[in-house]
Amino acid sequence: MISLEVPKKFRGFVNQAHQVAAEMLRPHSRTYDLAEHTYPKELDMLAAMVDGLSASGSGSGAGAAGVRRSEGDQAEPSGNRNGTNMSSVLSIMEMCWGDVGLLLSMPRQGLGNSAIASVADEEQLERFKGVWAGMAITEPGTGSDSANISTTAVRDGEDYVLNGEKIFVTAGDRCDAVVVWATLDKSMGRAAIKSFVVPKGTPGMRVERLDHKLGIRASDTATIVFDDCRVPAANLLGTPDIDTSKGFAGVMQTFDNTRPLVAAMAVGCARAALEVTHDLLVEAGVQIHHDRPPALQSSAAATYLTMEADWEAAYLLTLQAAWMADNREPNSLQASMAKAKAGRVGNDITLRCVELAGSVGYSEHELLEKWARDSKILDIFEGTQQIQQLIVARRLLGKTSAELK
Ligand SMILES: Cc1cc2nc3c(=O)[nH]c(=O)nc-3n(C[C@H](O)[C@H](O)[C@H](O)COP(=O)(O)OP(=O)(O)OC[C@H]3O[C@@H](n4cnc5c(N)ncnc54)[C@H](O)[C@@H]3O)c2cc1C
Repeated sequence: MISLEVPKKFRGFVNQAHQVAAEMLRPHSRTYDLAEHTYPKELDMLAAMVDGLSASGSGSGAGAAGVRRSEGDQAEPSGNRNGTNMSSVLSIMEMCWGDVGLLLSMPRQGLGNSAIASVADEEQLERFKGVWAGMAITEPGTGSDSANISTTAVRDGEDYVLNGEKIFVTAGDRCDAVVVWATLDKSMGRAAIKSFVVPKGTPGMRVERLDHKLGIRASDTATIVFDDCRVPAANLLGTPDIDTSKGFAGVMQTFDNTRPLVAAMAVGCARAALEVTHDLLVEAGVQIHHDRPPALQSSAAATYLTMEADWEAAYLLTLQAAWMADNREPNSLQASMAKAKAGRVGNDITLRCVELAGSVGYSEHELLEKWARDSKILDIFEGTQQIQQLIVARRLLGKTSAELK
């Protein structure tokens, strides 16, 4: 077993995140799973605490908001840098050990915050400080093929005018603003896709409905319509230029930072399931020996150990992808590998834990059945399993998206 130590400077922070997950998230897991679309009011106090930690500097990267190619982070004497990407994945793992749906409902920690943190300029960073931002890419006609979006943004004086419909926006109802992908000119292809920060309450923007879901029911998922919605040109993230030689680079850059975060969610949720299953197996008299080959143990113990090994591979890939982002190494390949492995392993582990625990696993006595439902989405959003595998294959084989689709 490879036992990587958590960097010393993050240990206190990670312990705090674990305590919060144990005392403030997990005790409310079942309540907000059953009361779908009810705002978890306990999160307001938690968000205030996270803001306090971030302001004091002891908790940079408490959630999705902390992600940036960390110019300000100090490299260790060895040149090894552990910055906001690493602290974000470590704390997200802990929080999702508590509850994925509640983590996704944390004020000011939306995936739109990651987009802002990744690509906003200094003025925008200051202007959107403290804003809770959702991320709106998916449309009724466009999911995995995100280069195909049809929401339009047309320049008019000092503004852009947005028209289109976005579906499945996480925190779309509760957030303060949404980062919207729109095309400046559909005939120019993917290079013309830009992202815009659209504050809630902007005329022409309306939340149309909320979706009922299999899992992460504590998190609201909204459909948002933009009907001649006017936003200042200064809310465009990145450059307004359409550079076909660079293609999708601007908006896609966000994914290199957010995919490890979603991988971390899967790792945290799977660890919760493993721990409970371990205890249930031991209670039932199953002996699990870490120093014996699985073939020499009971079937339940062997299954458990195989899951642990898979979990560890996902954990290490996630740390690697975050570490590379902190050290400004290109990590698209590793971010997709981490997301693919953790998403798949998260689904497998949580469902197999239900299986191992039998009726106890399937019932509401434990949270195992809930974690199996919650983890499914982590293999779907921010790029499905199949899309991650496609990206990995393209990178390894040196193929373009036109050559391998
Ligand atoms: C709860 C929830 C929250 C979400 N939150 C957000 C959010 O905050 N913001 C946002 O923009 N979106 C969000 N989404 C949308 C999510 O990102 C999309 O559902 C996802 O990208 C897949 O798109 P799709 O559903 O249109 O499926 P499709 O793209 O139609 O895919 C259907 C199936 O085909 C497979 N497939 C597609 N293309 C290929 C290919 N080339 N090769 C092999 N297989 C392929 C997919 O892997 C999948 O299995 C959310 C979705 C859910 C359910």
